[in-house]
Amino acid sequence: MFADNIFLKIIDKTIPAKLAHEDDLCLAFHDIKPQAPVHVLIIPKKVIRTHDAATAADQALLGHLHLVAVKLAKELGLAKGYRLVINCDEHGGQTVPHLHMHLLGGRDMAWPPG
Ligand code: 5GP
Repeated sequence: MFADNIFLKIIDKTIPAKLAHEDDLCLAFHDIKPQAPVHVLIIPKKVIRTHDAATAADQALLGHLHLVAVKLAKELGLAKGYRLVINCDEHGGQTVPHLHMHLLGGRDMAWPPG
């Protein structure tokens, strides 16, 4: 089951990651190629390929990911704010086919995004 992509291997602990949070529903870990002083990825343990693949059954799970982001932002010192990003599929720039939320902070963010 846990062989399809790199994030499933991180969930399965067959590939190491620097964990920031884990519970029954999700895992958060520091991005291997950080784009900001704080760059954490928050991922559901449930296999959901893209944001677009989420269904009504995932409503509470998606809310949970957001609340974990709030908790982590506090723990990681992002009192001045942060950015949450979910890249969806090809035009969104998604490179790992497992739904994930980027929590970025520790510097000013530009807008519009690239
Ligand atoms: P996406 O481009 O799909 O929105 O984001 C994928 C993110 O996963 C990228 O920021 C990339 O640096 C990160 N990433 C890819 N492989 C690994 C890995 O093996 N470990 C960690 N910690 N991050 C990874």
